Amino acid sequence: MITSRQVDAVVVGAGPAGSMAATKLAERGMKVFLVDKRSRVGVPVRCAEGVGKLGLMKYVTLRPQWISAEIESVRLYAPNGDHVQLSQNTQGVILDRMVFDGDLATGAVEAGAELLLQTYASGLLMDRGCVQGVYLQGPSGEKITVGAKLIIAADGVESRVARWAGIDSTLAMKDVEVCAQYFMGGLEPVPPRCEFYFGHHVAPGGYAWIFPKGPNTANVGLGISGNHAGRRSAKEYLDAFVERVVPGGEKRSFVAGGVPVSRPLKKAYAPGLLVVGDAARQSNALSGGGIIPALEAGCLAGEVAAQALAEEDLSERSLSRYQRAWNRSLGRSYARYYRLKEAVVRLPDETLNATARALRAKGSGQLNLFRVFMTALRKRPGLILDIRHLFLPQGGS
Ligand SMILES: Cc1cc2nc3c(=O)[nH]c(=O)nc-3n(C[C@H](O)[C@H](O)[C@H](O)COP(=O)(O)OP(=O)(O)OC[C@H]3O[C@@H](n4cnc5c(N)ncnc54)[C@H](O)[C@@H]3O)c2cc1C
Repeated sequence: MITSRQVDAVVVGAGPAGSMAATKLAERGMKVFLVDKRSRVGVPVRCAEGVGKLGLMKYVTLRPQWISAEIESVRLYAPNGDHVQLSQNTQGVILDRMVFDGDLATGAVEAGAELLLQTYASGLLMDRGCVQGVYLQGPSGEKITVGAKLIIAADGVESRVARWAGIDSTLAMKDVEVCAQYFMGGLEPVPPRCEFYFGHHVAPGGYAWIFPKGPNTANVGLGISGNHAGRRSAKEYLDAFVERVVPGGEKRSFVAGGVPVSRPLKKAYAPGLLVVGDAARQSNALSGGGIIPALEAGCLAGEVAAQALAEEDLSERSLSRYQRAWNRSLGRSYARYYRLKEAVVRLPDETLNATARALRAKGSGQLNLFRVFMTALRKRPGLILDIRHLFLPQGGS
């Protein structure tokens, strides 16, 4: 059966970016569909769920049911097992994303959006290069054609919607982290601390993490650079890590997924279309963290979209306001994170070991990531020559 509907906007993907965009649109009186192919928002969780508390509070009022654990410190492990502890200026939390993502989507519904679950976006309705709607497939396989003046592509790392509108969002292998994670139980009491493990044998081109979820539970995972994924799988690296670091724990569930660690899209809009969150590669390339930028991009896109709809101007020129707003807020610093990531992945294990040794010898004091990076640079001054082109302006020689 084929049915057709007409709305102002369709948001494809009910992750943090999509739910935020749908909320903003609905709050401004727009008729919005928020569609997701999953049967329950946020399930399964493909995330280590770590986020800065202050960053999060910019977008939402924290609810206790969203928080699995409060984080008091961060520890970085060098390849040889030495560690340094960062002083925490801002508190972190480990979310329960099943509840968090579900509540964000409920917020969109409460604002007036219609949530369609088990609904897959299979193509865009185009007219003379301009997006005019979306083809959906509902829970029983029914086909729904939805006419809409604007589509927001919030369909995550594997995004296809942007490509359907002619935006090249292809990720180079080196710009994607292939991740694997266990939710583990039966652990020795887990301290309120996020732990990161580096080293070529641990997670080449990435890192492993242990993020506490409860007194005896944790998300234990790792990401490896896509460049290395062909030789040994992320899961094999993870099994070896678990065996070595938390051998007594029970593996209760497993997830795998990709994280974009690229530059954000330079042009995340087209006539009648905006691209947000992982779909627009708007994650922090250094850490892989994508929750905060997804919320920010969702807010900005929702606001620009509502204004463009009210003005009845969905042209590229009108929607380019979103790109400028993103560049002003996080875009520039996220482009810098990408350049830093390119430098950090080149650091050999010996430099990381020497960095940890030097920092420990001085005493940790007020240790932050910048000081760690600067110490690494001093340990390997040639690094600045390797990476100087990354810091030159585009087109510089
Ligand atoms: C293993 C792992 C660990 C991570 N850990 C962290 C962390 O600790 N902290 C952090 O900040 N970030 C982390 N991230 C990244 C974070 O999860 C993402 O950046 C964030 O979820 C991006 O939000 P989003 O709304 O852009 O996309 P998503 O949350 O991925 O949502 C996209 C949605 O679109 C839906 N969808 C896709 N295609 C279609 C379609 N065709 N039709 C309908 N629906 C569709 C999907 O079902 C999904 O619900 C991690 C990622 C992974 C894989």
